[in-house]
Amino acid sequence: MSATHPDPDTFRSEARSWLEQHGELRQSVSTDGPDPDWGTGSDNVAVFHNRTETEEASMLALAQDWQRKKFDAGYGMLSWPVELGGRGLPMSYVRIWNSEESRFVIPDAGELPPTSMGLIAPTVAAYGTAEQKQRWVKPIMRQDEYGCQLFSEPAAGSDLASVVTKAVKDGDEWVLNGQKVWTSGARFSQWGLAITRTDFDVPKHRGLTAFMVPLDAPGVEIRPIRQMSGGASFNEVFLSDVRLKDADHRLGGEGDGWRVALTCLGFERDHSGGGTPVGGSLKRVLAAARHFEVTGDPVIRQMLADLYAHEKVAQFTNRRAAASLKAGQTPGPEGSLSKLMWTANMRRVSDVVSLILGARLVADSGEWGTYAWGEHLLGAPGYRIAGGSDEVQRNIVGERVLQLPAEPRVDKDISFAEAQRLSRRA
Ligand SMILES: Cc1cc2nc3c(=O)[nH]c(=O)nc-3n(C[C@H](O)[C@H](O)[C@H](O)COP(=O)(O)OP(=O)(O)OC[C@H]3O[C@@H](n4cnc5c(N)ncnc54)[C@H](O)[C@@H]3O)c2cc1C
Repeated sequence: MSATHPDPDTFRSEARSWLEQHGELRQSVSTDGPDPDWGTGSDNVAVFHNRTETEEASMLALAQDWQRKKFDAGYGMLSWPVELGGRGLPMSYVRIWNSEESRFVIPDAGELPPTSMGLIAPTVAAYGTAEQKQRWVKPIMRQDEYGCQLFSEPAAGSDLASVVTKAVKDGDEWVLNGQKVWTSGARFSQWGLAITRTDFDVPKHRGLTAFMVPLDAPGVEIRPIRQMSGGASFNEVFLSDVRLKDADHRLGGEGDGWRVALTCLGFERDHSGGGTPVGGSLKRVLAAARHFEVTGDPVIRQMLADLYAHEKVAQFTNRRAAASLKAGQTPGPEGSLSKLMWTANMRRVSDVVSLILGARLVADSGEWGTYAWGEHLLGAPGYRIAGGSDEVQRNIVGERVLQLPAEPRVDKDISFAEAQRLSRRA
């Protein structure tokens, strides 16, 4: 215990009694023996939820309600600095809180709340002016407002530094024009953190500037994109002559957009793989294997063992990353490794459950715990692309861990305008 930090045991027991008073305890599910919950409750194993606009809004309302209660009781920003509304506690208290909270039902509202609180808020905290931090951090962390990532464009995804959404200065304002795509949660967000091009005459990474764009501003149009798994959590966002005040909306300096983007992507990598599980778990797969009495099948048995072993390796890697963070080290390539393991394990889950279920997976007979798996299979590939594709993560591991030669970057030292001219000619 330090002079300013509560005793960890006292903190834990206070957190526990607050949770018991305000939360709903989760039903425990055994990991050995038949799953007692088979056939009861929800059989949803979706990676991306297939919800209507109204269902999405009510899920978010539940998540907001929980977050606000938690926030107002002092558990919403445990490790954040006091001046930003946090309690300034070490990460060990966050871990205590998480372990206690995980025993309770936490409303799942999909990827928007974690994106907003885990990526946008800390990026604002890292680059915002004092006014901007006051304006955004607390409202986002209390889920009074949401922020999404306006990064990708039709011709700029993995190569994010090639964005062409243009921001042109006009007095004390900027005028934005362009198109963003794959924006998760844009329809329910108040703010979008946009990476724009403000200078075409310098190399591509140097001509970018970041803005917090109010998504209800004139000139912003949001169109949903339907996914193969059924839902429409992604969007296209069109910006047409959107006017923003320089002092209020520019995040970071002019030309600092790449640093802002990298910081945000760094938070994304750290979140991927170690956060709230999505889709079907090993436990669920095992329950299906037991229910259909195929645990004796040598191929399925082998695949289950393989999945178990790889999930353990992923857990240990995540723990190692958490331990190095705890020891004060900056996040390393573990983020990329964790993300790769996470997406590979989601694929393993898809493979083994496909064998277990066979035709039940594609023909909806109404049988509990069968056809629902389609939403895992069709959603899982999305995370091999989101937040940096598997191939891009491998490039990071290759260059930063294995010290392999870097990819050729022919446009590194020429202006973006010149690089565009050359690629048009090629
Ligand atoms: C679930 C999901 C959520 C998303 N949410 C958001 C969001 O909220 N905001 C946002 O801005 N974007 C979002 N995206 C977009 C995402 O960031 C991009 O899809 C991703 O960066 C890949 O870009 P791309 O789709 O343009 O593919 P491309 O970059 O065109 O890649 C096409 C293929 O080429 C491979 N490739 C590309 N470059 C290399 C290389 N250098 N070496 C080897 N292989 C390479 C890729 O791995 C991929 O297989 C989301 C995407 C998904 C799937």
